[in-house]
Amino acid sequence: MRPFRYEETDDADSAVRLLTREPDGAYLAGGTNLVDLMKLGVARPDVLVDVRRLTSSTIDDLPDGGLRVGAAVTHSRLAADLRVRRLYPMLAQAVLAGASGQLRNIATCGGNLVQRTRCVYFQDVTTPCNKREPGSGCAAVEGYHRDLAILGASEHCVATHPSDMAVALTAADAVVRVRGTDGERAIPFGAFHRLPGETPERDTNLAHGELITAIDLPRLPVAARSGYRKIRDRASYAFALVSAAVALHVEDDVVRAVRIGLGGVAHRPWRAHRAEEMLLGGPATDEAFRAAAEAELAEARPLPGNAFKVPLARNVVVGMLNELAEDQR
Ligand SMILES: Cc1cc2nc3c(=O)[nH]c(=O)nc-3n(C[C@H](O)[C@H](O)[C@H](O)COP(=O)(O)OP(=O)(O)OC[C@H]3O[C@@H](n4cnc5c(N)ncnc54)[C@H](O)[C@@H]3O)c2cc1C
Ligand code: SF4
Repeated sequence: MRPFRYEETDDADSAVRLLTREPDGAYLAGGTNLVDLMKLGVARPDVLVDVRRLTSSTIDDLPDGGLRVGAAVTHSRLAADLRVRRLYPMLAQAVLAGASGQLRNIATCGGNLVQRTRCVYFQDVTTPCNKREPGSGCAAVEGYHRDLAILGASEHCVATHPSDMAVALTAADAVVRVRGTDGERAIPFGAFHRLPGETPERDTNLAHGELITAIDLPRLPVAARSGYRKIRDRASYAFALVSAAVALHVEDDVVRAVRIGLGGVAHRPWRAHRAEEMLLGGPATDEAFRAAAEAELAEARPLPGNAFKVPLARNVVVGMLNELAEDQR
């Protein structure tokens, strides 16, 4: 590992000012992703600014009935919170589907949103990778791409976003609160992560130095009728091949509200807006569920090694919609 400086500050504003002055510096929270990448030589920060004690580690009620999750809340704490389990079961299930108990005890919610892709070429500094080294090429397209994207990819990068939590957050209409040198701003979840386009090195729309302070979960009654399913190569300790966070409210066999997030399929957590629009106000039938999932996946452009993800994603979404509808009959 290369030498680096470690800095602690007294408050979040000082941390923001400090990192903004350090173009090659990075925030450090639980370190479960960043330190691994430093050991591999993929991340090479010259300064680490510790933020774990500078952002909230509590989950607070919002006036509208939603919740504010501090950036330093650990995954264990988030998944154990009774309000999260009752109001957003898909979120608690998504977090429990990730990593391991030990990792969840230290991994923070803020750090989870900014974790990097698990594309094997990104993690191997001997291979070309446009995300790690812009302009060097993409080894994945002609190589091993079983894990990689089927939606929204570009010729420059076909990586997927690895977070389970973020899939549930996109379905929950979450908002990310960030602090920069000009004060605070709120980023709707759909505008937080990016598609690769021509700049795959940028995963998010955070400016350098901006600090995630909290994640707001708005009051969303449909989220109380939700679940998360993750398909992976091993039962634990593996990232998603495909995952889905689905919330559904059915009354008189009509879809009154629906939210669908997909994981393992794109460079960012994928919100299935097209499927949701088709379902809303229509019949809660297997046929309608299947047509909506197929419409969402119509723009999928898989590579030969990951074409199986298209029917897999369709089946996961349809299966979950049917199960949630059945529970409400
Ligand atoms: C073996 C293993 C298996 C895993 N399995 C899964 C899984 O199945 N599903 C899943 O979702 N995740 C999984 N993870 C990822 C894990 O959940 C993340 O590494 C963790 O959530 C990152 O949080 P952290 O606090 O450790 O972040 P760090 O490693 O400290 O930081 C990660 C990134 O976030 C930035 N950052 C941290 N805090 C802030 C902030 N407040 N504002 C702005 N930037 C910030 C850092 O600069 C860094 O770039 C796994 C990790 C490991 C090591
Ligand atoms: S898919 Fe993206 S992360 Fe993977 S090698 Fe290609 S450019 Fe790098």
